[in-house]
Amino acid sequence: MPQHSMKHLDPRAPLVLDTRELPRRPGAMRALNRVVPAPEDLGVEMIGVPQGADLSLDLRLQSVSEGVLVTGTISGPLVGECGRCLTAINEELAVPVQELFAYENSTTDETTDEDEVGRMQGDLIDLEPALRDAVVLALPVNPLCREDCPGLCPECGVRWDELPKGHTHEQVDPRWAALSKLTENTEE
Ligand SMILES: [Zn+2]
Ligand SMILES: [Zn+2]
Repeated sequence: MPQHSMKHLDPRAPLVLDTRELPRRPGAMRALNRVVPAPEDLGVEMIGVPQGADLSLDLRLQSVSEGVLVTGTISGPLVGECGRCLTAINEELAVPVQELFAYENSTTDETTDEDEVGRMQGDLIDLEPALRDAVVLALPVNPLCREDCPGLCPECGVRWDELPKGHTHEQVDPRWAALSKLTENTEE
């Protein structure tokens, strides 16, 4: 017998899917659309879905011979900071999910690892691990406010976007400054 390390599932928990309404006949299908509060720590260091934000689950539950296949889209707000200039990022996240959850005591249950294939607990599915994987994998490790964000001036920490062209902290010796003025005038 495989070891079931799963916690006991609460059918009323927002990320627990109840499949009682889904006949265990391969091909049978049910749509599941639900808005749930985002669980905590749904993201990576610089970007993620804020805890409690509306997370939309647009899923299709399909009976297959060994369990239930869950496919669909998870969407919600994405909040973070640009890794270069620290500007706030506010985007909409939409990630696909596809995960098989094996029936208890099915061949799949007995011949695969829990890491490879999800498990059902009776009629219940714990969607949270699959949801976390899908969201975290979709997020950039180093998010940017835009592809070519120039970042910050290393001297004063101001965004390059807000600085005048040619901004510099070069300290010019006053005597040389006078001289370079002369040179400029000559060049003109
Ligand atoms: Zn930026
Ligand atoms: Zn500067």
